[in-house]
Amino acid sequence: MPKLDGKVALVTGAGRGIGKAIAVRLAADGARVVLCDKDLAFAEHVADKLRKTRYDAIAVRADVSVWQDVETLFIEVSRVFGGVDILVNNAGIRQDISLHKVAEQDWDSIISVQTKGCINCCRLAQAHMVTQKWGKIVNISSPVPAVLGEKTQSLYAAANAAIDGFTKALALELGPFNINVNGIAPDYIDTEMLRDTAKQQGMYIDDFRKIAVSQIALKRMGDSDDIAGVVSFLVSEDASFITGQVIQVKGGP
Ligand code: NAP
Repeated sequence: MPKLDGKVALVTGAGRGIGKAIAVRLAADGARVVLCDKDLAFAEHVADKLRKTRYDAIAVRADVSVWQDVETLFIEVSRVFGGVDILVNNAGIRQDISLHKVAEQDWDSIISVQTKGCINCCRLAQAHMVTQKWGKIVNISSPVPAVLGEKTQSLYAAANAAIDGFTKALALELGPFNINVNGIAPDYIDTEMLRDTAKQQGMYIDDFRKIAVSQIALKRMGDSDDIAGVVSFLVSEDASFITGQVIQVKGGP
């Protein structure tokens, strides 16, 4: 029997990149998957492919930073599948900007998507998990301060540090209900976000990759499947005694 047979997994930001890989992996592990993205077309495309491979998947549009969108998302998941057993908070944006250039909306948008988005989803997911005394939450952040990172990451680092603090505190709060709350902090995974970062820094992606690889102990870029594999482990029973941890997945110490 697949290890997540019968479980419902919600993955945010699942239309592309790391979120897409996580959704595909959890479907292969046997979960019924809800792909949430602010762009429905991308999420629907992935869900459609999963259904054609006979996996159970739906796509739902929601901007995780918007309170009401997340309420509607959870109502829809309850209607279709009954509730969320596994939540992966992956939706995120990155901004590379020096502090002296920051406008109020830069700060508002990064904290709203990265941090408030994660909290919005946990708030609604935990109710069903507490009732059934079983749940798994994985929050994707980023190493803080980004270990290979750049000096223009103060906002991104602050938003991610907040997620890691939230992960640890929530693990204490939900532990008595048999709910595991963990985090994954990837560094330099080869996705659209990385290409945007290279562009923002005025670099060709190939040059950016070369510099990144030179700093990574394992001498290769990470890819989305490297993160999906760790999520698959953290939501499995093999990881049932791990909670409140943030695992750095970055090919080096
Ligand atoms: P990505 O390629 O940019 O994909 C992000 C996905 O999240 C997109 O599908 C995007 O939708 C969606 N999204 C963005 N804002 C959203 C919102 N408000 N509500 C719902 N969905 C939203 O990024 P990625 O590289 O896969 O990164 C995924 C996560 O890993 C992020 O939290 C990121 O901070 C973290 N991370 C990535 C790296 C890296 O090197 N790639 C390193 C460390 C941490 P749209 O297509 O509509 O924009």
